[in-house]
Amino acid sequence: MTKQTLSFQAEVAQLLHLVTHSLYSNKEIFLRELISNASDACDKLRFEAINNSGLYENDPELKVKVTFDKDAKTLTITDNGIGMSAQEAIDHLGTIAKSGTKDFVSKLSGDQKADSQLIGQFGVGFYSGFIVADKITVESRRAGMKETEGVRWVSGGAGDFEVEAITRPARGTSVILHLREDAMDYASAWKVKGIINKYSDHISLPIQMEKEEWKDGELINPSDENGGRQPGGMVKTGEWETVNKASAIWTRPKKDIAQEQYDDFYKQISHDFEAPLAHTHNRVEGSTEYTQLLYIPGKAPMDLWNREKKGGLKLYVKRVFIMDDAEALLPTYLRFVKGVVDSADLPLNVSRELLQESRDVKAIRDGCTKRVLSMLEDLANHDKLPEAAAPSADGATGATTAGVTDVLSAEDKAEAEKNAGKYTKFYSEFGAVLKEGLGEDFANKERLCKLLRFASTSSDSASVGFADYKARMKEGQEAIYYITADTLAAAKNSPQLEVFKKKGIEVLLMTDRVDEWALNFVQDFDGTPLQSVAKGAVDLGTLQDEAEKKAAEEAAETFKPLLAKLKEALKDKAEDVRVTTRLVDSPACLVVKDDGMSTQLARMLKQAGQAAPEVKPVLEVNAEHPLVKKLDGSVHFNDLAHILFDQALLAEGGMPADPAAYVKRVNALLV
Ligand code: ADP
Repeated sequence: MTKQTLSFQAEVAQLLHLVTHSLYSNKEIFLRELISNASDACDKLRFEAINNSGLYENDPELKVKVTFDKDAKTLTITDNGIGMSAQEAIDHLGTIAKSGTKDFVSKLSGDQKADSQLIGQFGVGFYSGFIVADKITVESRRAGMKETEGVRWVSGGAGDFEVEAITRPARGTSVILHLREDAMDYASAWKVKGIINKYSDHISLPIQMEKEEWKDGELINPSDENGGRQPGGMVKTGEWETVNKASAIWTRPKKDIAQEQYDDFYKQISHDFEAPLAHTHNRVEGSTEYTQLLYIPGKAPMDLWNREKKGGLKLYVKRVFIMDDAEALLPTYLRFVKGVVDSADLPLNVSRELLQESRDVKAIRDGCTKRVLSMLEDLANHDKLPEAAAPSADGATGATTAGVTDVLSAEDKAEAEKNAGKYTKFYSEFGAVLKEGLGEDFANKERLCKLLRFASTSSDSASVGFADYKARMKEGQEAIYYITADTLAAAKNSPQLEVFKKKGIEVLLMTDRVDEWALNFVQDFDGTPLQSVAKGAVDLGTLQDEAEKKAAEEAAETFKPLLAKLKEALKDKAEDVRVTTRLVDSPACLVVKDDGMSTQLARMLKQAGQAAPEVKPVLEVNAEHPLVKKLDGSVHFNDLAHILFDQALLAEGGMPADPAAYVKRVNALLV
């Protein structure tokens, strides 16, 4: 192949521009990305070699070497992994294979801080080299191919790159970074070692650097910063030393791993810049043996809503990397979890299809699901500061709290403060996804229910759990009341809430799109039934006093003839018309029958272009309202009846079937 110049795919060029302009404050991640690629390449070789050991070419010790040359101003990362053919270099280093790239690039705003977060999540991989290099040369040969079938790829990171054939005896890849002037400090052993320690300790293969020695260095002052040597310069010794721990983090005992190392590993696999909210690390023994290291991220990825998105777990078998995004290891609703599962039982040549059927995988999946739920329960239990640790509103410690504060040790207090608010953060990012679990994971439904949080008539933020609600229930209250609506404002101002507000009964306000669907799967919580305030007749049971009940019965009786007339006038619109006690200020509202689909869900289905059954709601009228009182004997009876109905529809965020007719009727009355 003769030398040829090719253009980058448009998205790559755009991405490159951003990489060099946005990731400036996070320069050092380039090394993590390139070492991670080198490690992936070794994993791939090991995997392919399972069926073809010839690929090792008598060089079975997989490793990564990092070298630098101060004079040439280069930093080089070399691996003896799978390597690339010329075509692979063109394909893999000139385009972005990942789906969703266009989407991704279109989401970038030009705001550097926001963009660098997004880029971080996306994982810039190889292109991150251009943060520190103004030119990158890649030399590679694919395992199993001839020496003469090597490839050299060179680019300045602008619009194009060059490729040509080279002879390369060594299998694998060298990435040669021609360092920018302002990145010359990366041509230094201690700097590079420091970064490797930070990000790549867990990489399971050795990362080696050439040992250096002081040339003619005389020990003058052992306590000064360069080890007491004269700055005579370091020289390379020709010996190689392994600079990382070279053991996969999840294979090490928990007690030897610092929180920071757990966090760094998470950042590496997730491309997240932020530390995770929680992790769990366990060796599971028994009929199925595996190790799990699972993380709860603090931030939702941009493709969270794509249910097609594969899971976030990497699968290893006996420490050999098998696949990324192994979706069979966790249910879809936990797709935000990141981490690693290393199985001792699965065959090395396991495929995605096989995974779906394996009994071991089923056991792993159940085990991982339980662990994730425990992690979430733990976060939820520690979300609020213990009363005592929270500073009182006026800043002073009141007499009641002082006693308890004394009981908490400084350590416990710090721990409590560290954990406070984490679940709230988790829930605002992932709560809606968690709800999908109600319809997907029946075995864990009860645990999931305990993890749900909603806004309510006594809290605008989604912070009320069913258990909190139950603890606050009024004496004699027999149900957990809720209402679903498109927005919090619509829910809060809904006429159906009036009597509940008047009586001080809390109602959960559900405004997530999935709520309506998810609640189909929840009939009760801990023995207390859930009751929509917009479904069926209100039955406040013992919460209603005798006088109220009597008044309601009487009203129903005296209103009978009027109701019959209303029913007749609205027979095309309303399933039924009845008197209600649920309204205080509004003249009327709409409800659906107990087993009916809510009008809100029907509306949502219609908006989504799906077939929804025609729901005819029940019109409930407030016998005490002046407008309703005026109805009887009014010459405008028919118009008023329709206005009553259409207004009830408007109040819950709906739209009259014939808006023009509604306007005409109201105007006629106004005039
Ligand atoms: P990612 O690693 O996320 O797929 P990159 O941009 O980092 O994205 O790399 C693109 C592709 O280039 C990789 O998927 C891989 O096929 C190839 N590649 C990168 N580095 C190496 C390497 N050291 N050895 C072999 N192939 C590599």
